[in-house]
Amino acid sequence: MPQPRPALFLDRDGVINIDHGYPHRVEDFDFMPDAADAIKFAHQSGFPIFVVTNQGGIGLGYFDIAAVHRFHTHMCECITAKGGQIMDIAICSHHPKAIDPEMRDCSCRKPKPGMILDLANRHQIDLSRSVMIGDRDTDMAAASAAGCHGILYSGGSLLPIMMEAVKQLSRTDESYS
Ligand SMILES: [Mg+2]
Repeated sequence: MPQPRPALFLDRDGVINIDHGYPHRVEDFDFMPDAADAIKFAHQSGFPIFVVTNQGGIGLGYFDIAAVHRFHTHMCECITAKGGQIMDIAICSHHPKAIDPEMRDCSCRKPKPGMILDLANRHQIDLSRSVMIGDRDTDMAAASAAGCHGILYSGGSLLPIMMEAVKQLSRTDESYS
């Protein structure tokens, strides 16, 4: 059984890619400034990287899960081509105003911590030594509820934010072997 290790959690829209408003088409994927280099930096620093994304547009009927998977395949290919790597992606397809009443309530939609907790459980991640970067208060609330450190990113180059995140991860990494 491997030792739980620290990890980096990234929100998607507004952190990895520009949030054009429910982006879901491959042709609408555009990196946030320096996002590819920032992810490469975190990957080369040795930390597993996960994406946790609210995609309530599925519940609202704007697009389906297949579109999200196509978007993520493209996103991961772009990231890999630039030297980075995403280990896993968690998607919440629920929304309080979802068409299907059964899609309205969940434990995964941020600010709830369900996606982070699930990934941590499946990949043996030590959340107390992990960091989440997001662009909304709901990301910070999810990080806090999951017991990891949240860093709020409000645009501009993602690199200095990522350097801060890696510093936090490294600082809390001393007991990791
Ligand atoms: Mg966002």
